[in-house]
Amino acid sequence: MSISIEQVNKRFGNFVALDNVNLAIKTGELTALLGPSGSGKTTLLRIIAGLEQADSGIIRFNNEDITGQHVSERGVGFVFQHYALFKHMTVSENVAYGLTVKPKKFRPSKAEIAKKVNNLLELVQLGWTADRYPSQLSGGQRQRIALARALAVEPKMLLLDEPFGALDAKVRAELRRWLRRLHDEIHVTSVFVTHDQEEALEVADRIVVMNKGRIEQDGTPEQVYDNPANPFVYEFLGNV
Ligand code: ADP
Repeated sequence: MSISIEQVNKRFGNFVALDNVNLAIKTGELTALLGPSGSGKTTLLRIIAGLEQADSGIIRFNNEDITGQHVSERGVGFVFQHYALFKHMTVSENVAYGLTVKPKKFRPSKAEIAKKVNNLLELVQLGWTADRYPSQLSGGQRQRIALARALAVEPKMLLLDEPFGALDAKVRAELRRWLRRLHDEIHVTSVFVTHDQEEALEVADRIVVMNKGRIEQDGTPEQVYDNPANPFVYEFLGNV
């Protein structure tokens, strides 16, 4: 699923959150939106998701204009900073959730759901947690379960908002490597928001650097780091 963002603008009152943003993301790419706090990263992610509507501009998925479409029609999976797992449900029930709430017509059988949940738990290497409750898992494990849950409905793309933000440094480092490996296996088009350069460098195929609602630079990690395009990027990346 490719994503095309064309001349997107968004204001909150007088505040310009996105200033004529243009961005094309290729199918299967893992893209980092990197920038300081308040630079518009989350707003852009939410507009791609359909959780927020742009004031102007066009969003296309696979070249189809989906600008006005509601979030429920867009087929995206989400992972947020604070893993919103259901506390009263087991890990299996959490992962199955998106499938069990489908309209009857589209809902897989119980056996199919169970098989799928097993496969997803294997994929995130947490099969042994199936019957536990979220409170019995570590933060990193919970975030991997959140990812399995997002993948259960076979999303066309995965959007991650500071997915490692709430975790300590060691767990973050592990999860970064793990997300990279997972993406190499499943190749779902993914966009993740981070303000952490190391995270973007280590995980992403592509880095989009934002500042004050604008895209300052866009390229592979090597391109962005070897050739900081302008004084902002140079400064932000720490005088590489
Ligand atoms: P980032 O993810 O880069 O930190 P955001 O996209 O979250 O930046 O926000 C950009 C700016 O827009 C922030 O300064 C924030 O205060 C403002 N903003 C975001 N959402 C809203 C909203 N719903 N209402 C008012 N202001 C908002």
